[in-house]
Amino acid sequence: MTEMIIENLQKGSLDRKTIESALALKDSGQSQLFSLARDVRRRHHKDTVELRSVIEISNTCSQDCCFCNISVRSALKRYIIPYDEYVRRIGYLYQAKNRRVFLIQSGENRSQKFVDFIARCIDHTKSNYPDSVIILCLGNLSHSQYSLLKSCGADRYILKFETSDPVLYEKIKPGDTLNERIECIGMLAEIGFEVGSGNIIGLPGQDIRDLVNDLLFIGKFKLTMASASVFIPGEASDFSGEDPGDTDLTLNYMALMRILYPELLIPSTSSLEKSRKGGQYLGLMAGADTLTVHDGTPRRLKKYFPIYTTHRFTPNETFIKRIMKKAGLSSACM
Ligand code: SF4
Repeated sequence: MTEMIIENLQKGSLDRKTIESALALKDSGQSQLFSLARDVRRRHHKDTVELRSVIEISNTCSQDCCFCNISVRSALKRYIIPYDEYVRRIGYLYQAKNRRVFLIQSGENRSQKFVDFIARCIDHTKSNYPDSVIILCLGNLSHSQYSLLKSCGADRYILKFETSDPVLYEKIKPGDTLNERIECIGMLAEIGFEVGSGNIIGLPGQDIRDLVNDLLFIGKFKLTMASASVFIPGEASDFSGEDPGDTDLTLNYMALMRILYPELLIPSTSSLEKSRKGGQYLGLMAGADTLTVHDGTPRRLKKYFPIYTTHRFTPNETFIKRIMKKAGLSSACM
């Protein structure tokens, strides 16, 4: 059975049944799947990793996602990193750490004042460090707000679809719809952003067919990046009592993403490490080619960004170097 699945994947016959069976592979079958994914990565990305620094610029959010610890209902102290501090952080990351790719992340805050502040930060970064790449992850905004951010020089935007099932989407994100998200993804691409998206694996109410749908859903968009996070029941979220997602299922999903969409940048996320010690290394072994170093957010503010768990794993440079080396990968930004 395993041989037939691997043979089908090698031949590129990726029908629903093959994908579903491949998602369930374990032990030597899983090793063969990962090996196939790494071959694809080697051919398309030459065993290099895109390394990013993340700056969690604000935890203010107007959304009410059931899986999240920083939703609008959370009693968390809110912050926005002051402009001068942002300027110092970005200078340090560029000059002292040699980073060139910056991920600026926030909860969803559609106020024009906040978007203007982000625009100012982008403007500063691109004026002073023109070879930098700026990735934004700020949620659903309006067409004019996205356009403003693009015109200041932002390069990419991550907007996860979380699940391709519209009913499940509204259950996990009350107040938002999958249609609205799809419209935003379309707007971002039309404005000229390189767009990333992705899902969460193990959400309450999700089944294996949903994951096959999610994998195929990715192909409907012109994406340059896609991710899969393991569901971690956030301690202060509505889903705090739910079972966590399955690490192996997430890794298999990532390997299939690599095989189905060879050109995509695929991160090995810190949720994998939270889910299982060594999980982020396994993400690289399953074909991922992107890692995020958590050295952009000022230390005193990190505890106010407990997005998926209050005991987050926030990998530092030493950890990232170690797993990259172990996986036989390298990065120009280290
Ligand atoms: S997942 Fe993002 S949009 Fe949803 S509540 Fe959390 S920070 Fe806000």
